[in-house]
Amino acid sequence: MRCFRRTSRALGRRGTLTSIGKVLVLHTVTVPLLLALCSEPAAGQTDAELRRRARELAREILLIDTHVDTPYEIRKTELNISRRNEKGHFDYVRAREGGLDAVFMAVYVPPEREEKGDARAFADETIDLVNSFATKWPGKFALARSVDEVRRQFGGDRVTIVLGMENGSPLEGDLANLRHFYDRGIRYITLCHSKNNHICDSSFDSGPKWHGLSPFGKELVPAMNRLGMMIDVSHVSDDAFYQILELSQAPVVATHSGCRHFTPGWHRNVSDDMIRRLADKGGLMQVNFGSMFVNARVNEAFRAYRRKVNAHIEAHNLEGDERERYIRQQWKGFRLGRAHIGDVVAHIEHVIQLAGVDRVGLGSDFDGVTSLPEGLDDVSCYPNLIYELLKKGHNADDIRKICAENFLRVWAEVEKSASLTGGK
Ligand SMILES: [Zn+2]
Repeated sequence: MRCFRRTSRALGRRGTLTSIGKVLVLHTVTVPLLLALCSEPAAGQTDAELRRRARELAREILLIDTHVDTPYEIRKTELNISRRNEKGHFDYVRAREGGLDAVFMAVYVPPEREEKGDARAFADETIDLVNSFATKWPGKFALARSVDEVRRQFGGDRVTIVLGMENGSPLEGDLANLRHFYDRGIRYITLCHSKNNHICDSSFDSGPKWHGLSPFGKELVPAMNRLGMMIDVSHVSDDAFYQILELSQAPVVATHSGCRHFTPGWHRNVSDDMIRRLADKGGLMQVNFGSMFVNARVNEAFRAYRRKVNAHIEAHNLEGDERERYIRQQWKGFRLGRAHIGDVVAHIEHVIQLAGVDRVGLGSDFDGVTSLPEGLDDVSCYPNLIYELLKKGHNADDIRKICAENFLRVWAEVEKSASLTGGK
């Protein structure tokens, strides 16, 4: 079992500072571990035994990652993910080495597509692309649309792919499009990305447009419940989050978020109260691996950089292309630090402390962030995370829950609540 360290990576994923979910960065800064205190060290086992046990567990148990951004990466770089690559965070070979059984591939739609009016077409193209993985390499990838299908495919050689849409812009204000994308296999929708859209406000825009959900967003939540489509609250503003939880009849999921406890004031991560509310509603929190999400120092460095760039833009009244050019240029010269795998464990343990071990899972954001913690460079590295959890005293049952069972349970509840309301 190898875990491949990245030594270089293309910069300049996207050119705006509101696009942090899918941006770049590498370079190493030593970062102190944030150690959670909710478990005892594993007793009586040597380090080598724990490592071996971690690799065994990664092979034996079902492991699902609920947010990987590889399709958008492929749209730009045409990576062949059927073989090992040095670029990118995901390919078939590394996924199997890491014990990854199923992955939600993000059908990501950049926020500007809503303005351009071609968001639905953009999403359809990405879905075609993901479907092509299974037709081009049928021995390596298989598509799934339900919990049962994921379970049935577990144990074979193929990596199961499920579709999740990141940014609800492709719905274009029409519930018929919700049905269209459900029929094409989308099983969750992240209601917005880094900008407010026609559904709700984003945690990363400069201010609210709707103060939560738009009138269409308020129709959309129950419609998603009826259909059995999971609602993803990663990226939404706090007001939108609370309104969604109020309206939804089914559990709600944060597919790739961190705990705001470690990054105070950064609203892309969720607060302790939000985590408790998610749990009370039967939902769960899938922890993002991005360095900026999990480590206070890295997060603060990014925010300081962002403040500086925004101040310059304001002082010089930069607009349009000039503004974009300036942002791209600054971003190219910016180097963000790296977190450590222990930071991710601290987030997992924080959710466990707040809401219990049934309320947490893994949503790496691989290929959506480019600064990843030391020890978590790509999809071959899940055994490292399992090792860290074993070392902190978490048992195999808990690790099974964290790696997939919690998420599958919640997804099954969303499916069931749809069938109860006769939504399909
Ligand atoms: Zn995202």
